[in-house]
Amino acid sequence: MGNKLILLDQDGVLADFELGVRRSWQQKFNQPIPLGERHHFYLRDDMPEKYHQALHQVYASRGFFARLPPIDGAIEAAQQLLHAGHDVRICTSPIMAYQYCMAEKFDWVRQYLGEAWLRRVIITKDKTWVRGDILIDDKPCISGSLSPQWQHWLYDQPYNRSVAARHRVCWRKPDSWRYLLD
Ligand SMILES: [Mg+2]
Repeated sequence: MGNKLILLDQDGVLADFELGVRRSWQQKFNQPIPLGERHHFYLRDDMPEKYHQALHQVYASRGFFARLPPIDGAIEAAQQLLHAGHDVRICTSPIMAYQYCMAEKFDWVRQYLGEAWLRRVIITKDKTWVRGDILIDDKPCISGSLSPQWQHWLYDQPYNRSVAARHRVCWRKPDSWRYLLD
Protein backbone atom coordinates (compact mmCIF):
# COMPACT_ATOMS: atom_id res chain seq x y z
CA MET A 1 0.00 0.00 0.00
CA GLY A 2 1.37 3.44 -0.92
CA ASN A 3 2.15 6.04 1.67
CA LYS A 4 -0.94 7.43 3.30
CA LEU A 5 -1.81 10.24 5.58
CA ILE A 6 -3.21 8.40 8.56
CA LEU A 7 -5.04 10.18 11.35
CA LEU A 8 -5.27 8.34 14.65
CA ASP A 9 -7.83 9.36 17.22
CA GLN A 10 -6.39 9.44 20.75
CA ASP A 11 -9.11 8.42 23.23
CA GLY A 12 -10.46 4.95 22.57
CA VAL A 13 -7.84 4.21 19.88
CA LEU A 14 -4.46 4.95 21.50
CA ALA A 15 -5.41 5.78 25.10
CA ASP A 16 -7.85 3.60 27.01
CA PHE A 17 -10.32 6.26 28.11
CA GLU A 18 -12.83 3.76 29.43
CA LEU A 19 -10.39 1.79 31.56
CA GLY A 20 -9.10 5.12 32.86
CA VAL A 21 -12.60 6.16 33.88
CA ARG A 22 -13.23 2.84 35.62
CA ARG A 23 -9.96 3.07 37.57
CA SER A 24 -10.35 6.73 38.50
CA TRP A 25 -13.94 6.17 39.60
CA GLN A 26 -12.84 3.33 41.86
CA GLN A 27 -10.09 5.48 43.32
CA LYS A 28 -12.20 8.59 43.78
CA PHE A 29 -15.36 7.01 45.16
CA ASN A 30 -13.95 3.76 46.51
CA GLN A 31 -16.43 1.60 44.61
CA PRO A 32 -16.80 0.29 41.07
CA ILE A 33 -18.40 2.51 38.50
CA PRO A 34 -22.16 1.81 38.13
CA LEU A 35 -21.81 0.95 34.48
CA GLY A 36 -23.32 -2.15 32.97
CA GLU A 37 -23.11 -3.44 29.46
CA ARG A 38 -21.88 -0.89 26.97
CA HIS A 39 -24.15 0.14 24.14
CA HIS A 40 -23.54 3.84 23.61
CA PHE A 41 -20.47 5.79 22.60
CA TYR A 42 -20.77 8.19 25.53
CA LEU A 43 -20.37 6.54 28.94
CA ARG A 44 -23.04 8.73 30.46
CA ASP A 45 -25.61 7.29 28.06
CA ASP A 46 -25.07 3.89 29.68
CA MET A 47 -25.32 5.30 33.22
CA PRO A 48 -28.27 6.53 35.28
CA GLU A 49 -28.57 10.30 35.22
CA LYS A 50 -27.84 10.68 38.93
CA TYR A 51 -24.21 9.70 38.24
CA HIS A 52 -23.56 12.08 35.37
CA GLN A 53 -22.16 14.82 37.58
CA ALA A 54 -19.74 12.40 39.26
CA LEU A 55 -18.66 11.08 35.86
CA HIS A 56 -17.87 14.58 34.71
CA GLN A 57 -15.84 15.13 37.88
CA VAL A 58 -13.79 12.05 37.04
CA TYR A 59 -12.68 13.04 33.58
CA ALA A 60 -12.37 16.74 34.28
CA SER A 61 -9.94 16.00 37.14
CA ARG A 62 -6.31 16.93 37.06
CA GLY A 63 -4.20 13.97 35.98
CA PHE A 64 -7.01 11.97 34.42
CA PHE A 65 -5.90 12.27 30.78
CA ALA A 66 -2.19 12.03 31.56
CA ARG A 67 -2.73 8.76 33.42
CA LEU A 68 -4.81 6.93 30.81
CA PRO A 69 -3.32 3.51 30.09
CA PRO A 70 -2.47 2.79 26.44
CA ILE A 71 -4.72 0.42 24.52
CA ASP A 72 -3.13 -2.98 23.93
CA GLY A 73 -0.93 -2.89 20.87
CA ALA A 74 -1.64 0.77 20.08
CA ILE A 75 1.81 2.21 20.68
CA GLU A 76 3.52 -0.48 18.64
CA ALA A 77 0.97 -0.05 15.85
CA ALA A 78 1.44 3.72 15.67
CA GLN A 79 5.22 3.33 15.53
CA GLN A 80 5.00 0.62 12.88
CA LEU A 81 2.69 2.70 10.70
CA LEU A 82 5.14 5.58 10.89
CA HIS A 83 8.14 3.37 10.13
CA ALA A 84 6.28 1.88 7.16
CA GLY A 85 6.44 5.35 5.61
CA HIS A 86 2.99 6.71 6.37
CA ASP A 87 2.51 10.22 7.63
CA VAL A 88 0.81 9.44 10.93
CA ARG A 89 -0.91 12.17 12.94
CA ILE A 90 -2.84 12.08 16.16
CA CYS A 91 -6.15 13.80 15.61
CA THR A 92 -7.97 14.43 18.83
CA SER A 93 -10.80 16.53 20.24
CA PRO A 94 -10.48 17.86 23.78
CA ILE A 95 -13.45 17.67 26.10
CA MET A 96 -15.24 20.93 26.86
CA ALA A 97 -13.60 20.97 30.30
CA TYR A 98 -10.30 21.55 28.53
CA GLN A 99 -8.19 22.91 31.40
CA TYR A 100 -6.25 19.73 32.19
CA CYS A 101 -7.25 17.69 29.15
CA MET A 102 -5.43 19.86 26.59
CA ALA A 103 -2.01 19.81 28.22
CA GLU A 104 -2.31 16.24 29.43
CA LYS A 105 -3.05 14.92 25.96
CA PHE A 106 0.42 16.17 25.00
CA ASP A 107 1.88 14.74 28.24
CA TRP A 108 0.47 11.38 27.29
CA VAL A 109 1.87 11.47 23.76
CA ARG A 110 5.31 12.40 25.04
CA GLN A 111 5.24 9.69 27.67
CA TYR A 112 4.15 6.80 25.45
CA LEU A 113 5.23 7.77 21.93
CA GLY A 114 8.08 10.14 22.62
CA GLU A 115 9.00 13.77 22.19
CA ALA A 116 9.12 13.62 18.38
CA TRP A 117 5.44 12.73 18.25
CA LEU A 118 4.43 16.04 19.86
CA ARG A 119 4.76 17.58 16.38
CA ARG A 120 2.23 15.05 15.12
CA VAL A 121 -0.61 16.13 17.38
CA ILE A 122 -3.59 17.86 15.80
CA ILE A 123 -6.15 19.19 18.24
CA THR A 124 -9.49 20.09 16.78
CA LYS A 125 -13.14 20.23 17.70
CA ASP A 126 -14.08 19.38 14.13
CA LYS A 127 -12.19 16.54 12.44
CA THR A 128 -13.83 17.20 9.08
CA TRP A 129 -11.47 20.21 8.75
CA VAL A 130 -8.41 17.98 8.91
CA ARG A 131 -7.00 16.46 5.75
CA GLY A 132 -6.10 12.81 5.62
CA ASP A 133 -6.60 9.56 3.74
CA ILE A 134 -7.76 7.47 6.68
CA LEU A 135 -9.08 8.43 10.10
CA ILE A 136 -9.05 5.59 12.62
CA ASP A 137 -11.57 6.55 15.28
CA ASP A 138 -13.81 4.72 17.74
CA LYS A 139 -16.70 7.17 17.38
CA PRO A 140 -19.31 5.61 15.12
CA CYS A 141 -20.43 8.80 13.43
CA ILE A 142 -18.03 11.69 12.94
CA SER A 143 -19.75 14.81 11.77
CA GLY A 144 -18.66 18.38 11.24
CA SER A 145 -19.20 21.36 9.03
CA LEU A 146 -17.23 20.08 6.02
CA SER A 147 -17.40 17.01 3.89
CA PRO A 148 -14.50 14.85 5.14
CA GLN A 149 -11.63 13.98 2.82
CA TRP A 150 -10.60 10.97 4.86
CA GLN A 151 -12.16 7.58 4.97
CA HIS A 152 -13.34 6.63 8.44
CA TRP A 153 -12.10 3.29 9.75
CA LEU A 154 -13.94 2.43 12.93
CA TYR A 155 -11.77 1.33 15.84
CA ASP A 156 -13.45 -1.65 17.43
CA GLN A 157 -14.91 -1.12 20.91
CA PRO A 158 -17.75 -2.85 22.75
CA TYR A 159 -19.83 0.31 22.56
CA ASN A 160 -19.72 0.52 18.74
CA ARG A 161 -20.25 -3.15 17.86
CA SER A 162 -23.84 -2.65 16.79
CA VAL A 163 -22.72 -0.20 14.12
CA ALA A 164 -22.11 -1.44 10.60
CA ALA A 165 -18.67 -0.31 9.45
CA ARG A 166 -16.94 -0.84 6.13
CA HIS A 167 -13.57 -1.03 7.88
CA ARG A 168 -13.24 -2.09 11.49
CA VAL A 169 -9.79 -1.92 13.08
CA CYS A 170 -8.44 -3.57 16.20
CA TRP A 171 -4.69 -3.41 16.93
CA ARG A 172 -4.88 -6.96 18.31
CA LYS A 173 -6.39 -8.27 15.06
CA PRO A 174 -3.56 -8.13 12.50
CA ASP A 175 -5.91 -8.80 9.57
CA SER A 176 -7.73 -5.56 10.29
CA TRP A 177 -4.82 -3.18 9.70
CA ARG A 178 -1.43 -4.81 9.12
CA TYR A 179 -1.77 -4.71 5.33
CA LEU A 180 -1.12 -0.99 5.76
CA LEU A 181 2.48 -1.99 6.50
CA ASP A 182 3.01 -3.71 3.11
MG1 LIG B 1 -12.15 8.40 20.45
